[in-house]
Amino acid sequence: MVKLNSSLIILMFFIVPLTAQQTFQRNVKRMGSGFQITVVANDSLEAKTYIDLAISEITRIEKLISSWDPKSETSEINQNAGIKSVRVSEELFELIDRAIKLSGITDGAFDISYASMDKIWKFDGSMKTMPNTKEIESSVAKVGFRNIILDTKNRSVFLKKKGMKIGFGAIGKGYAADMAKSLLLENGVQAGIINASGDMNTWGRQPNGNEWTVAITNPLNKTKAAAILPITNGAVVTSGNYEKFVRLNGIRYAHIIDPRTGYPATGILSVTVFAPKAELADALATSVFVMGKETGLNRINQLPQVECIIIDENGKVFTSHNIEIDRL
Ligand code: ADP
Ligand code: MG
Repeated sequence: MVKLNSSLIILMFFIVPLTAQQTFQRNVKRMGSGFQITVVANDSLEAKTYIDLAISEITRIEKLISSWDPKSETSEINQNAGIKSVRVSEELFELIDRAIKLSGITDGAFDISYASMDKIWKFDGSMKTMPNTKEIESSVAKVGFRNIILDTKNRSVFLKKKGMKIGFGAIGKGYAADMAKSLLLENGVQAGIINASGDMNTWGRQPNGNEWTVAITNPLNKTKAAAILPITNGAVVTSGNYEKFVRLNGIRYAHIIDPRTGYPATGILSVTVFAPKAELADALATSVFVMGKETGLNRINQLPQVECIIIDENGKVFTSHNIEIDRL
């Protein structure tokens, strides 16, 4: 047992107020989106070290999963589709393995091989008529998570079909947020938020002891928050469909496309998912869009520690079983 003498106790009394913790924040662009890193630290120098650490981790992950960088492991897999399997790092192998499991959980609504879909839908207002059924069918011909072959022994990945591609657009930012958070936790950062354009993972509390709060955007009026919710340790991700959509024959089609059918998702304006990890929340938010509100809510209600808020195209709010919001 350590004995503290009285002068030490007095000294501690003086130190505590001098090193009162504060919140520090920095914005940075990575993965084609804005990231905001928030940390609680004793001073700006300490905060800088932490934030630099988080950014270097996000940069590292971007290099690993980027489909634009022809030298990334992901590009190597894509370049060898239909040709040969590619040995990859354990980290990428496991990420792909988890992504395939998510496809299983969502009956294929989530599928990283969506990336080989032909882009026949345009969401910039230029599209006036529906593509024909044949075009829609053939647009997804190369999509299918069952054709991503993992060889655990050799730690290799093989895309069976020529022209097949994988992409981490619906999971990468969440994964990066999780990884940056764990790295900061390992380095002793007591509280913070990694926010990847609305995909966020939080830990600890604000210096004043209050919980962090997240604002859920009102899809019918972007300048207004639909709800403000407290969050202490976990992830929250919103997938919205405010601007990118096309209206054809009176139906509003979202920019997220069902990889099984080639048709864009309909009926939903925004999905917010709460989960222990941002990677899971990110993937599920996109999936609920594709599954639609009924199937989506059912699936979320079956998953432990996962909750969701759906706002449909009429502005109506639907929530999973364990969520209560009073102000919307
Ligand atoms: P954002 O990143 O714009 O917030 P989402 O998290 O919903 O939006 O992800 C949309 C992105 O996910 C798309 O731009 C695309 O890269 C990818 N994606 C689209 N549909 C699917 C799908 N069914 N399964 C996996 N990834 C998808
Ligand atoms: Mg997503």
